[in-house]
Amino acid sequence: MDSILITYSYYIWTIGCQMNRAESERLSALFRSHGYMEASHVNTADIIVVNSCVVRKHAEDKVINKLHNLKAIKSRRPNVRIMLTGCFVGQSPAELHKLFPYIDDFLRPGEFPEWLPQTDCAPAVSIQSDVSAYVPIIQGCNNFCTYCIVPYRRGREKSRPLTDITREIRQLAQQGIKEVTLVGQNVDSYGHDLPNKPSLAQLLTELNDIDGLLRIRFLTNHPKDMSSVLIDTMARLDKVCRQINLPVQSGDDAILQAMRRGYQIADYLALISRLRQAMPDIAITTDIIVGFPGESDKQFQNTYKLLADLRFDAVHVAAYSSRPGTLAASMFTDDVPLEIKKARLASVEALQKQIAGELNAIYLGQTMEVLVDGTNKGRWKGRTRSDKIVFFSGGKNLQGKTIMVFIEKTGSWSLQGKLNAISNSI
Ligand code: SAH
Ligand code: SF4
Repeated sequence: MDSILITYSYYIWTIGCQMNRAESERLSALFRSHGYMEASHVNTADIIVVNSCVVRKHAEDKVINKLHNLKAIKSRRPNVRIMLTGCFVGQSPAELHKLFPYIDDFLRPGEFPEWLPQTDCAPAVSIQSDVSAYVPIIQGCNNFCTYCIVPYRRGREKSRPLTDITREIRQLAQQGIKEVTLVGQNVDSYGHDLPNKPSLAQLLTELNDIDGLLRIRFLTNHPKDMSSVLIDTMARLDKVCRQINLPVQSGDDAILQAMRRGYQIADYLALISRLRQAMPDIAITTDIIVGFPGESDKQFQNTYKLLADLRFDAVHVAAYSSRPGTLAASMFTDDVPLEIKKARLASVEALQKQIAGELNAIYLGQTMEVLVDGTNKGRWKGRTRSDKIVFFSGGKNLQGKTIMVFIEKTGSWSLQGKLNAISNSI
């Protein structure tokens, strides 16, 4: 059906986590493999996809806003086909259809439209850049942290077969992709549901042998599931970047228990010291929720102190947002006033700005390996293996190249420098 759409163009609007970005890239690749073109603007697209997030109310509000805007487009151009996917689409698309009758397709996260058959063709390079790609390795989550809506929207864990992932990444490398980020809500539990129970460590070991691929990253890790084997594997494999996201969420044991995170602060500290022992240069980032129900000043101070002690490279901090249907929403009252949530958020941000500035200052005067992935205001842009953003001048045709950059200036969010020497022209 709908073969008339074949020569049409598509536009994808994405909000939310890296999983959504990965899924948008896949959808884009699928469209292109069927001959569709990417539209440069939503107003000219024949197919509009909204890849949504509802992890916090703020994100959900943005999605609803977007959908209202699309209603106007649909009434101006009734032939436009609108698709909604991502975590806004839960178990009952029929309910959503009543609320948004002008939307043509409702797809659960990671689902593809039936009228766009999946082909065996190679996934195209990512829409974000021709240098790096996000590759989903495990869908869903079995954890049910009390605050989190993700397991209700994405369902239970489902790993992709190891051979599918390696084949896909080999194809990406052949197309010129230099860096892959393996994504999942909890990549540490990768493989437990597959016949031979392959592990993330095994997957990394296989990927490390792929010619042309230079860097491998993965996220997100769960502190209760991260194994020593994985740490040793990271330390051993040259293409696996020494960089990790390990969300702690709170620095207080009672809050962690109310969140049902499955570990205590002592466990988390032990894990961080194992990582730093195995890889002294590892960059570690974390996620924090402030203002969880019942969080006292003292409990927040425990989080603040943990951040000051552990000195993360980056902290993603969010104010608690009560999500209907989650355990926390039914068990607890959202009793931390908004002004207090905001003040806690601001104090974490100020602390982290200072820490990141101090950590980045260490790179001043050093020469670092940068994988160039674009340009910004007339300068090249790339990332170090530790995932720091670097802007630099000098050199021609550097896109996709790995080069050495001399760092001349550092700040909390980025480094700046100049081209040193081409170290690698793979
Ligand atoms: N699977 C990952 C992250 C999933 S959601 C993990 O286990 O950490 C991404 C981030 O959103 C979380 O790390 C958490 O900090 C934040 N988040 C999730 N639910 C939230 C809520 N109800 N309110 C505020 N932040 C939330
Ligand atoms: Fe949500 Fe917890 Fe699963 Fe992460 S591990 S997706 S925070 S339920």
